[in-house]
Amino acid sequence: MLLTRKVEFSASHVCADPGRNDAENYALYGAAANPHGHGHNYVLEVTVDGQADPVTGMVVDLRELKQVIEDEVVEPMDHRFLNREVPPFDRVVPTTENIAIEIWRRLRPRIDRAGVSLKNVRLYETADLYVDYGGEACG
Ligand SMILES: [Zn+2]
Repeated sequence: MLLTRKVEFSASHVCADPGRNDAENYALYGAAANPHGHGHNYVLEVTVDGQADPVTGMVVDLRELKQVIEDEVVEPMDHRFLNREVPPFDRVVPTTENIAIEIWRRLRPRIDRAGVSLKNVRLYETADLYVDYGGEACG
């Protein structure tokens, strides 16, 4: 059974590789390379895979899942300038793809356990654009 929890956070970023100059970054990332940054209201959907416990009827403790997402994503990323305040985005370009990978990396050790695993991280940058990341095998 798949269970998904959704959360929103707001953050700003610059899509620019610190190893390239401004012209190269504009060529690669367009307006998103503007060094002054711009913001998004990100929508994150975290999907876990497991079986409903026959006694509790739950796949995971929903309060615990909410708290893990709060601790690992919302608290460190909400209302932050990702490139300046949230490692590894001082070195890794905070594209939607890379943010989803980082969220996966942060959540997985706190979610995976006997019978329960992190299945997918879906991150919407806008209503029209999202990425799905399910770990190395499919990413
Ligand atoms: Zn952007």
